[in-house]
Amino acid sequence: MVQTFQESLMAAGAGISLVDLVVAASNISQDPPIGFALVRPPGHHAVPKGPMGFCVFGNVAIAARYVQRVHGLKRVFIIDFDVHHGNGTNDAFYDDPDIFFLSTHQVSHNLMLLKNCISPLF
Ligand SMILES: [Zn+2]
Repeated sequence: MVQTFQESLMAAGAGISLVDLVVAASNISQDPPIGFALVRPPGHHAVPKGPMGFCVFGNVAIAARYVQRVHGLKRVFIIDFDVHHGNGTNDAFYDDPDIFFLSTHQVSHNLMLLKNCISPLF
């Protein structure tokens, strides 16, 4: 249990570190950098009120709020790909017009990309 908590903190921290690095690089480069964090546990099932499934913290949700509050970026686009819907991230930003959440996930045993999988945030 303690190990899971520590690993979950590291996963959430990885997203924050990625945000810091991408923002810092974008301040010194003409070409906007692209960042990608592949972390476990993934975090997209954690809801705002707590953990769900294997997800303790909403890693990308934390990173999105962090980039808004610490770095002053207004709008964030989150792309989630997994066999499961990113319900926790969806719940975190359902009413937030500044966060666009795109979830691609498995539907009826077929991996459906960009069809019937876009979470209706707007
Ligand atoms: Zn999953």
